[in-house]
Amino acid sequence: MANSPLTPGVVPGRLQPDDYTRNFADKAPPLTAHEAAVAADRCYFCHDAPCVTACPTAIDIPLFIREIATGAPAAAARTIFEQNILGGMCARVCPTEQLCEEACVRMTAEARPVEIGRLQRFATDTLMTREGHPFMRAAPTGRRIAVVGAGPAGLACAHRLAMKGHEVQLFDARPKAGGLNEYGIAAYKTVNDYAQAEVAWLMGIGGIAVTNGKALGRDMTLDDLRAGHDAVFLAIGLGGVNALRAEGEEKAQVVDAVDFIARLRQAEDLSTIPVGRHVVVIGGGMTAVDAAVQSKLLGAESVTMVYRRGRAAMGASEEEQHLASSKGVRIVTGAAPLRLLGDGAVEAVEFAYTRETETGLELTDETFRIRADQVFKAIGQKLEGAPEGIALSGRKIAVTGPGRTSVPGVWAGGDCATGGDDLTVTAVAEGRDAAEDIHATLMAEG
Ligand SMILES: Cc1cc2nc3c(=O)[nH]c(=O)nc-3n(C[C@H](O)[C@H](O)[C@H](O)COP(=O)(O)OP(=O)(O)OC[C@H]3O[C@@H](n4cnc5c(N)ncnc54)[C@H](O)[C@@H]3O)c2cc1C
Ligand code: SF4
Repeated sequence: MANSPLTPGVVPGRLQPDDYTRNFADKAPPLTAHEAAVAADRCYFCHDAPCVTACPTAIDIPLFIREIATGAPAAAARTIFEQNILGGMCARVCPTEQLCEEACVRMTAEARPVEIGRLQRFATDTLMTREGHPFMRAAPTGRRIAVVGAGPAGLACAHRLAMKGHEVQLFDARPKAGGLNEYGIAAYKTVNDYAQAEVAWLMGIGGIAVTNGKALGRDMTLDDLRAGHDAVFLAIGLGGVNALRAEGEEKAQVVDAVDFIARLRQAEDLSTIPVGRHVVVIGGGMTAVDAAVQSKLLGAESVTMVYRRGRAAMGASEEEQHLASSKGVRIVTGAAPLRLLGDGAVEAVEFAYTRETETGLELTDETFRIRADQVFKAIGQKLEGAPEGIALSGRKIAVTGPGRTSVPGVWAGGDCATGGDDLTVTAVAEGRDAAEDIHATLMAEG
C-alpha cells in the first residue's frame, strides 16, 4: 500500500505526484510586463531613497524602477548587476520585508511598499534570458587570484576580479558551484535549477576557472594557494552545525536541518525523500523555517518548530513565520530541549519552558513532551576548517575593512568572516568589496 501522511515512521512518498509539483512550485511567480509596469508606477523615485540605504549592495533602486517604468527592463537589470551580480537570486531570496521594502516610504505611509524584489526579478530575468553577458573584461593584468568557496561571496568576488582583467581560480569542495544557493535555499524560492543557470550565466564574463571537489585543508593548504597566486579570497561559509547539547541527541532520525535541505535540493524526485509523520524542528531562524515548511510540503502530518526565546527574537522574519503557520507548521516559543526519548530511534522530545532573567535565559521546572519520529536540528551553523594561522574573532575569520584578514595577501568574506548578517545579499556585497580592495592593492603594487 502506498504511504500517506498518516504512515508511521520516516518514509518517502507520502503524497501523490501532483501534490509535490503543486507544493514546490515557485513561491512568488514572476510579474508579467503589465504587472511590472503597474508596480513600477507606484515608486516616488525618492531623492536619497531609504530603500537604497537599506540594501546591503546599495542598488540604485529608484533608477532601475524608472528604467522598468520607461520600458527598458534590460537597462534596469544592468543597473542592478553593476552592484549585485547575483541580483537574480537576491530578487528571489532576500528578506525584502526586513531590508529595502521595509524602508520604502510607501511602507511607512500605507503599509504597502513598492514590490522592489519582484521588480528586480522581472528586470534580471529579462536580461538573463537574452544571449550574451552584459559586462566586458578589462585588458588582462597578468595577475592570478584564488577564490575558495563558490557560494554567493566567492562568485561575486570572482566575477568582479574577472571584470578587472585578473585570472581567477575558483575552488569548491562540493560537486557543484553555488554554495547555499544550490544546497541550502528553500526549493520553492529557486525553482527550475535557477542556481546552476545563474552560475553558468555569471561565468559568461570569462577568465574564471572553476574546480569542484577540491577542498582547502584536505587537497591544498593556504600556503600552496599563496605561493601560486597574487591574492587569495576565502569564502568558505559555515560548514559546521551547532550541537543541541541535549541528552539523546545521537538517536537515529535526529538530523541536521541543513543536511536534510541539501538532500532535498539535490533530489531528482521529491517523492524519494523520507520524512517523518511527526516532525519536530528545533531553532528559530531561516533554516528552521525552511526545514519545517518543506517537511510539511513533503507530507508530514504534524510539524512543530520549537524556539527557546520569544517570537520577536526569532531569526526568521515575520513573513517567514507567517509562511510557516500558513503551511500548517505549529510554532512553540519559550521552550528548550532537555532530552530526546526513544528506543534506538527518536520517539519524542522533552522540553522545558524557559524564562528570561537579568543574567540570561533560564530553564524552568515546567516540562512537556512532543511526539516526534524525526527531529531537525536548526540552531545555527558554525565555521569549520579555517586555515591554521589565520586570526579568528569570536567564531569567524577576523577581517578589517573590505575583508582583509590577519594574513597578508589573504581576504575573506561572506558567512565565514566577521561583520554582516549571514544573508545571500550581504555575502555578495562582501565578495564584491573584497574584489575591489584586492584589485586596488595589486594595482598599487605595480
Ligand atoms: C537552509 C538555509 C536557508 C537560507 N535561506 C536564505 C534565504 O532565503 N535568504 C537569504 O538571504 N539567505 C539565506 N540563507 C543564508 C545564505 O544562504 C548565506 O548567508 C549565504 O549563502 C552565504 O554565502 P557564502 O558565500 O558566504 O557561503 P556559502 O553559500 O555557504 O558557500 C560557501 C562555499 O564554500 C565551500 N567550501 C566550504 N569549505 C570549503 C573548503 N575547505 N574548501 C573549498 N570549498 C569550501 C562550500 O562547499 C560552499 O560552496 C540560508 C541559509 C541556510 C543554511
Ligand atoms: S523608498 Fe519606495 S518609493 Fe522611494 S524610491 Fe525606494 S522604492 Fe521608490
